[in-house]
Amino acid sequence: MKCPYCLKDKTKVLESRRTPDNEIRRRRECLTCQKRWTTYEKIVKTEITIIKRDGTYEAYNRDKILKGLQLALEKRGISNERIERAVDKVESKLLALNKTEIKSRIVGEFVMDGLKSMDEVAYVRFASVYQKFKDPTQFLKTITELKRGIKNGTKVAAKA
Ligand SMILES: [Zn+2]
Repeated sequence: MKCPYCLKDKTKVLESRRTPDNEIRRRRECLTCQKRWTTYEKIVKTEITIIKRDGTYEAYNRDKILKGLQLALEKRGISNERIERAVDKVESKLLALNKTEIKSRIVGEFVMDGLKSMDEVAYVRFASVYQKFKDPTQFLKTITELKRGIKNGTKVAAKA
């Protein structure tokens, strides 16, 4: 986001919370001129239907993603704000697909991508629950990918 005062784009979010009207109020600060301002983000009502593994349909529910992430990140020292932002990211990826029906597997993949960049332990935890590791090679693949990432010096815990 660009600073409304000096138009530089290095800004940070100081505080983020949901208003009773289901908007997200963010207090922001410009890292260049230090001025502060507030933004309100309206949540676009997503008319997305999720197709579950068993073929049944379910209305898209942001809270489900949020709860899943909160559960996976329990006691991992990740702020709620970062989790909310991760959900925002998943949501925008889903919207970018420009589809009204999306397979739950796709949602799971986006969630796991988000987790992977935040916390590797939580990622494995979530992946094990989400995919249920029907196939043991899938579990090994996940672990191997993680280890390879660490070996290559990839920072798993990306900075927000
Ligand atoms: Zn500024």
